Amino acid sequence: MQLNETHRADLRSWVESANTVDTDFPIQNLPFGMFRRDGESARAGVAIGDQIFDLTAALKAGLFEAEAEEAARLAAGPALNDLMAADPKMHTALRRRLSQLLAAENPDRERLSAMASTLLVPMADAQLELPAVIGSFTDFLTSIYHTERGGRVTRPDSPVPAPFRYLPIAYNGRATSVRASGEPVRRPNGQWRTAEGKVEFGPCRQLDFELELGTFVGRGNELGEPISIEEAPDRIFGFCLLNDWSARDVQRWESALGPFLSKSLSTTISCWVVTAQALAPFRAPAFARPEGDPAPLPYLYSARDQAEGGIDLNLHAYLLTPRMRSEGTPAARLCRTNFVHMYWTVAQMLTHHMSNGCNMRPGDLFGSGTTSGPLDENRACLSEITTRGAQSFTLPNGETRTWLEDGDEVIFRARAERAGYRSIGFGECRARVAPSPPWPKPKS
Ligand code: MN
Repeated sequence: MQLNETHRADLRSWVESANTVDTDFPIQNLPFGMFRRDGESARAGVAIGDQIFDLTAALKAGLFEAEAEEAARLAAGPALNDLMAADPKMHTALRRRLSQLLAAENPDRERLSAMASTLLVPMADAQLELPAVIGSFTDFLTSIYHTERGGRVTRPDSPVPAPFRYLPIAYNGRATSVRASGEPVRRPNGQWRTAEGKVEFGPCRQLDFELELGTFVGRGNELGEPISIEEAPDRIFGFCLLNDWSARDVQRWESALGPFLSKSLSTTISCWVVTAQALAPFRAPAFARPEGDPAPLPYLYSARDQAEGGIDLNLHAYLLTPRMRSEGTPAARLCRTNFVHMYWTVAQMLTHHMSNGCNMRPGDLFGSGTTSGPLDENRACLSEITTRGAQSFTLPNGETRTWLEDGDEVIFRARAERAGYRSIGFGECRARVAPSPPWPKPKS
């Protein structure tokens, strides 16, 4: 992963809000997204401070040339899939040019800031949409801490299933119910078995969140043609935050083959795609396997991936209850973790996914699995925090929770921080739980 002048910590932007210490979107980030203003169609933009740099307007103004122009044209469609499909060289060219355009040291800055009303859209005036047409969604299970805490209850003798240390476990999820941050999630109806052995159907009683990192596939692979782990990093376009909503009561009962309705109810993602290039300064070694764990099989092993396949990314989950909202108290933090705790790297996940010849396409999305770490504060879902509902927890305002209640809002944030580099963030992944729909009556 190459560092270049776009990562320089001293770079500043003529968009002043991008220079504040706490912004998620300084000029070193430059994430892509799709936005819409009332009455307009969705188009591509780049987050900078509290503004969106309008790629279509910038193209019209003739601000790009050569490879950067080609890449900006690919981004100017109805979604970012074509940009994701491009060679990473094009992504580099576009990132370089965006950085030059938005830099305070740009000799052309006077002319550009005079065009600000054309080139910039305040985030507050825009609605973010899904960044890509997501053809398929896959959910992994790659935190050994999450797996072990869950397994201690169900499989106390061997809490971590045998394959876990040999392959990144996953199931094929549901792409149609992936939704943009801000859209409510309806409590699903489902079937479960009670402690007394009675099988029931109704509104889920154990609704949970899972704090995950989402990965957007770039150029993918052809059916029947796997890609090596050496090449896999070049097939990853970027990342988002991902809430893999989970109906635990349903999940426990239905999962003879794997999760189904307990997971397909909805998946919420943050809408800015933070590129692999933006995260280059924050790469970390792969997970240090304890003595006695098997080494990854050769197809999942590369020296480069072991050296820099991890991502040092702080991940936070918050809960905002209806009472906190009405009393104006801030959301309570439920979890603080880091992506370095993941047993498998994103390159290993992608390589394994393609290893049987399964074809991945640009814009395909996969979730990392719940990003829990070793400490109690690293527990990244309620099932871990409450030991599967056995103990409730108390919020700062005295309210208690075991599972999510209607009106509860779950908010994820992430921040990559490293000495010598400008910190970058992801924006929010946020959704409120809406009551379950009334069961439809047959039309008479
Ligand atoms: Mn999950």
